[in-house]
Amino acid sequence: MKEKKITREQAEEILGEKVEEILKISEITVYCPNCTPRNDRVVDMDTGEYFLDDLNDIILKGTCQNCGHKVIRRIETGEKQYT
Ligand SMILES: [Zn+2]
Repeated sequence: MKEKKITREQAEEILGEKVEEILKISEITVYCPNCTPRNDRVVDMDTGEYFLDDLNDIILKGTCQNCGHKVIRRIETGEKQYT
């Protein structure tokens, strides 16, 4: 899977007018492999970098606000599930 690093501004362009809502929801529904080994609850993340993959999904890479472990959150823009 190819990933291309993009800026926050580019992510906003891709996500359109609902960007704030989508990013906010995405950043508070992250599974941390350290805090939530059974994936039964979610954590908040601090987003560090934004990537775009070859399916046009946006990938947020950041750290868990609880423990600082690296976490990744995918936003599936291809499916248009937020519109
Ligand atoms: Zn954590």
